[in-house]
Amino acid sequence: MNNCKLCQRQGRQSEDPYFVTETTYYAVYHAPVEKRLVGYLYIEPKRHAESWQELTGEEQAELPGLIARLENMLYKEIRAERVYTLSVGETVRHLHLHLIPRCSGVLLEGLELIQRAAGPEGTGQPVSEADIRQFIAKIKPEL
Ligand SMILES: [Zn+2]
Repeated sequence: MNNCKLCQRQGRQSEDPYFVTETTYYAVYHAPVEKRLVGYLYIEPKRHAESWQELTGEEQAELPGLIARLENMLYKEIRAERVYTLSVGETVRHLHLHLIPRCSGVLLEGLELIQRAAGPEGTGQPVSEADIRQFIAKIKPEL
């Protein structure tokens, strides 16, 4: 658990450029620039858990409202047409949800978009670090 990279970033949110928001039990981060997708978010429990059944009732109860809030924001701020929500956990065992928005004008959709965005090479769109920082700065006050 000590070498879990998601555990290691807990408590250091203020110095993390990808940090978006937090609730009592979860922290939300934007995906790194290499994914090339503005609005791609991760929801992570603040404590180490590797499956949904390990979460307490309170932790489980908080999650749907947080997903709904982020989804609404993605529909509004970047005019997402769909928001894919998934959990894989093969590379990083610490439970985390991927929120992957599909916007109009993006050629990829469905599993292909998910595979490209979540994979090491990203979507191939011209997304810069500045685009992501601008997006985070815009949504932070609303969350
Ligand atoms: Zn962890």
